[in-house]
Amino acid sequence: MKKIEHIGIAVKNLNEANALYQKLLGIAPYKTELVEQEGVKTSFFKLGDSKIELLEATDDQSAIAKFILKKGEGMHHIAFEVENLDSEIKRLEKEGFTIINNVPKRGADNKLVVFLHPKSTNGVLIELCQEIQ
Ligand code: ZN
Repeated sequence: MKKIEHIGIAVKNLNEANALYQKLLGIAPYKTELVEQEGVKTSFFKLGDSKIELLEATDDQSAIAKFILKKGEGMHHIAFEVENLDSEIKRLEKEGFTIINNVPKRGADNKLVVFLHPKSTNGVLIELCQEIQ
């Protein structure tokens, strides 16, 4: 894996969280994006080589809505950038990790993404992402 691409934070209100994180980080988000099939609205802040992703649910049935209902706002996932998703999936399956979606799906910020189940990663939801060329 290449680096921590971003850290995802679940928030109730994206506009308010954008203002707060803009104050905290001293920079404005460089993009806001609706990921319709995931039922989330996201915004991204670039910090050096990594990013902070804020996620607000747009749909009661989305993973972010369920997460906030269960745990409240807070850190939701860590995303690692990989060179080749397919070979990483094969490698991690062999190592015994539970992959939530074996077929990469389109995520925010021009990425293909795969998630590892937190049960197999000490309680942390892990996203693997690969830039779409
Ligand atoms: Zn993410």
